[in-house]
Amino acid sequence: MQTNSLFETFRELTAIDSPSFGERRLCDLLTAKLTALGVACEEDGALCDEETGGNCGNLYGYLPGDLPGAPLLFSAHMDTVEPARGKRAILSDRGKITSDGTTVLGADNVSGITVILKAIELLRESGARHRSLELLFTAAEERYGAGSALAGYSGIQAKEAYVLDLSGAIGEAANAAPTILSFTVTVRGKASHAGFAPKEGVSAIAAAAKAIARIPLGELSGLTCNIGVIHGGEAGNIIPACCKVTGEIRSLSHTAVLEHWEKVRAIFEEEARAMGAAAEFARKAEITAYETPLNRPVVKRFRRACETAGLPCNIHSTLGGSDNNNFALHGIEGLVVACSMHDVHSTREFALLDELEQCVRLTVLLMSAAD
Ligand SMILES: [Zn+2]
Repeated sequence: MQTNSLFETFRELTAIDSPSFGERRLCDLLTAKLTALGVACEEDGALCDEETGGNCGNLYGYLPGDLPGAPLLFSAHMDTVEPARGKRAILSDRGKITSDGTTVLGADNVSGITVILKAIELLRESGARHRSLELLFTAAEERYGAGSALAGYSGIQAKEAYVLDLSGAIGEAANAAPTILSFTVTVRGKASHAGFAPKEGVSAIAAAAKAIARIPLGELSGLTCNIGVIHGGEAGNIIPACCKVTGEIRSLSHTAVLEHWEKVRAIFEEEARAMGAAAEFARKAEITAYETPLNRPVVKRFRRACETAGLPCNIHSTLGGSDNNNFALHGIEGLVVACSMHDVHSTREFALLDELEQCVRLTVLLMSAAD
């Protein structure tokens, strides 16, 4: 494998600004590269609308193989978190790839994209036999998988997926991920002058505060709960009529999330009522929990590939979401696979060239694995 060319591909891809809902240029470059490798490409129109302001859909690719078995799906996402404008990948002499420190590197998820491209390139160059491959490069994954939520699943044949989008050593993979429920509670009281007519007012902030003080927050048994934003009131001399509280609950158990939400809701209702206020609720399951059982072929194939590559295999759950949550909702069993992306969502983000090479080798083994 040409190490230079692996880094060159990584650098070329990270040099393109590709924020969520703005993946157009990266998608066009990927389409050109995939087409040159013989992959038939098709982009869906997901997210190309005024509501999201997106300029790019999900990019689907198909490469027929000569090994028997259903196609396998390999996936990575095209968008990055901010700050990501003007990214520059810098390779140190020890093989560490960083940004210049003012932006994220974008290894999340250019590492995954680079690995998939290079693995296909190697298969094509060597003429090695491989499975039929389906590829999905998604838009706006960083927005709770907004792109993959709208992908055209009726056109995807694969029932097994490898999503290259995990931090950790090569050989690590996640087989379970949480439900994340985000919520907003709006407490409505009654405004009044705080000095002249305090008895006529009902403080929405006080009611919200009483509720928050009772809600179990932080790491609880089997779940986490956080209140992250509170906003209310107009001025120091007005009893606040409105207070909005925003938070999230996450757990590997979807049921546990819903049960905790009911507790949160009941507490807000009680405290609001006790003060003569009212509470309104909005909630959204941003992603839905899944677990891929360890005895499934998609896991066994991964273990075998790690063994062949001489990599320690480590399969565990994660508390972060990915496109795999959406794949699971559509009957695709998958693993989220480590692909050399570290300290992600920070300007300290880095990738390692030797890990990228290991991951390419591992991906080639997965793509050319018989069942
Ligand atoms: Zn990612």
